[in-house]
Amino acid sequence: MSDRDTIFAAATAPGRAGVAIVRVSGAAAGVVVRALTGRAAPAPRSAVMRALRDPDRDELIDRGLVLWFPGPRSYTGEDVAEFHVHGGRAVLAALAQAIGRVPGVRFAEPGEFSRRAFLHGRLDLTQVEAIADLVDAETDAQRRMAQRQLEGELGRRYEQWRSELVRALAHVEATIDFVDEPLDPALGEAVRARVRVLEGEIRQHLGDGRVGERVREGLLIAIVGAPNVGKSSIINRLAEREVAIVAPTAGTTRDVIEVRLDIGGYAVTIVDTAGLRETQDDVEQEGVRRARRRAADADLTIVVFDATTWPRGEAAVRAMVDARSVVVINKADLARPTLNGEEIALSAVTGFGFERLVQVLRERVDQLMAVQGGAMPLTRERHRQALEDCVAALRASADHTEPELAAEELRVAAQCLGRITGRVDVEDLLDLIFRDFCIGK
Ligand code: GDP
Repeated sequence: MSDRDTIFAAATAPGRAGVAIVRVSGAAAGVVVRALTGRAAPAPRSAVMRALRDPDRDELIDRGLVLWFPGPRSYTGEDVAEFHVHGGRAVLAALAQAIGRVPGVRFAEPGEFSRRAFLHGRLDLTQVEAIADLVDAETDAQRRMAQRQLEGELGRRYEQWRSELVRALAHVEATIDFVDEPLDPALGEAVRARVRVLEGEIRQHLGDGRVGERVREGLLIAIVGAPNVGKSSIINRLAEREVAIVAPTAGTTRDVIEVRLDIGGYAVTIVDTAGLRETQDDVEQEGVRRARRRAADADLTIVVFDATTWPRGEAAVRAMVDARSVVVINKADLARPTLNGEEIALSAVTGFGFERLVQVLRERVDQLMAVQGGAMPLTRERHRQALEDCVAALRASADHTEPELAAEELRVAAQCLGRITGRVDVEDLLDLIFRDFCIGK
């Protein structure tokens, strides 16, 4: 496996489809086009219809569109050819066989096109991650966030912080390299002040309540309540399809069942938990333990009581109500519950109250997802980790009075930021900055 090989793969999902697209990237992409079409590559970035033949058998594989993107102005930065053919398994198999027989051409590894795009500087790492997110996006909020990241919004911010740090580093290094020169003491203080401001900005970014990660991964809502109050029935109605087992005997929902929903454009996972009650049954006890754990991890809980026994509810369930909870009184078709104001009366059988429940969930989800100031939030644990390391290094640098040690920590901090985008390392940038740095001249 080499980055110099020419690679190819279907860019579209396998299976039957109207159209499938096969992408070829690398130095031999033009050779592939010639081998299959018998002609030179078409004009850049315009689609032409060509007969695609297996060169060894001189047999027509399919007729389709050919596109030519000469490097470096292509997705990968290399020469790229695209074949748009009919999306059938046999068509793709025949095409793959013909392409694979061209010398120096092989099947792409997973993510290899994007990897090359990164290696050739077409995308930074946050953008590569954004492509994966965009492909995985199930909701509008996920799509929008991935799109902003792909546009480079996060990458630019981290790069800007990094170059400011490197600039600060250059100043500190200058005080080390030019000790004989009379240095302006105000400069040292100015650099420190700037680094403090930067640290504040990064801390603020870190303290965003994990909104971006929540949008990307989805919110977790746990449904909790005593057995038989109608938890699975509620989830079924919310999902509008049969997912949980609804049964008339108590304690049948023994495990955690998950449903993914789109609530107001946000991805939400609702987990149906085992009924909370004291039990001798080992399997059920394990279920109850898991239910408690999931509820503890949840961003929101829907706590369910039974209208026929309301307002007397099980103590264990009452104890689960906290600031994250939406309290619902189910089976309102059997008894009319007296409400204190906040609870929602429901009937999973008639559907009564569900409009209100969905509206309340939507409001709660909106509150949790609210982004302060419109700045793009952190989207990944990987970035969070690097930023936390960066802040720690900035703290350490502020504690050092020795310029050598302070510089070393600043260097570490800059490297942490560089890890996020994967762009040039600190030395490269320092060289660049020192080139027009003129202390002592
Ligand atoms: P879970 O153990 O809390 O998940 O409860 P289930 O969803 O399995 O429901 C237990 C029983 O109550 C089933 O027989 C349901 O049909 C019934 N049930 C659920 N919700 C309602 C409701 O709103 N009204 C009435 N009358 N019965 C309900």
